[in-house]
Amino acid sequence: MKIVHTASELHTLKLFDVGFVPTMGALHSGHLSLIKTARKTCKSVVMSIFVNPTQFGKNEDFGRYPRPIEDDKRMAEQAGADILFLPSVEVIYPGGTRFSTRVHVPALGRRLCGKSRPGHFDGVTSVVARLFALVSPQKAFFGEKDFQQLAILKKMVADLSLPVDVVGCPIIRESDGLAMSSRNRYLTPEERRSACRLSQALDGIRDAVKNGEVNTAVVIDNAKLFLEEDKAIRLDYLDICNEATLKSEKRISGQSRVFIAAFLGKTRLIDNKVLH
Ligand code: AMP
Repeated sequence: MKIVHTASELHTLKLFDVGFVPTMGALHSGHLSLIKTARKTCKSVVMSIFVNPTQFGKNEDFGRYPRPIEDDKRMAEQAGADILFLPSVEVIYPGGTRFSTRVHVPALGRRLCGKSRPGHFDGVTSVVARLFALVSPQKAFFGEKDFQQLAILKKMVADLSLPVDVVGCPIIRESDGLAMSSRNRYLTPEERRSACRLSQALDGIRDAVKNGEVNTAVVIDNAKLFLEEDKAIRLDYLDICNEATLKSEKRISGQSRVFIAAFLGKTRLIDNKVLH
């Protein structure tokens, strides 16, 4: 695996048929599954690691976000990445983070996580657009773990006619159902035990829907009661939305997905599950 830091280093490699996996590092099996999927269909697999300052809010965890770079290099190589791109802030934002061009996707970015993290998705779309320009991938692989992010990036690529195919990949989970996340390493042992309730709450909703329930309020209220049994969990939102529009749905349809965000201590976790 080759490690590069700049756009000119990338260009001298003359890569073609590139599968791209952008990340913020602190890699886990969820990230590695994206490399493995890219490996199946693309000649060259490029992973980037960049903790993007513009997608963090003022009081969020940018400063303490985990950066275990030596472990990440080893894991990316073992999973089959050809190139690891480690840009600096100056490479991504040559004009500085405050004065660089921003990409904004309206509507979709205001719902769900957009409400509690204003500006977050503008940071995501801006960095991914810049990374796409530097890496020139044919395909880019993103996890459904961040389903709203995936929907917003698909919209950005469609609206701007960017020549890249955005591929969504399934959520990889721990054995107790907790969706893998770099932020899981913040959890205390007690919080970690409580955290599996988030996916259990989603499973409860999915099972109720399988058994014929179509009323959103009924399944959400039951799930909230289940979550409230554990005082370590502070719910941010729990909602059933249309997968395409991310708008809340009162009646569960063939396009519904359930979304959750909750705090365990200071750590904010998200998850989602398809309901059809
Ligand atoms: P991050 O490093 O958190 O920005 O994530 C980088 C990419 O990995 C994004 O496309 C995420 O959706 C994806 N990802 C993160 N966690 C998981 C997971 N548990 N399963 C699948 N993909 C994931």
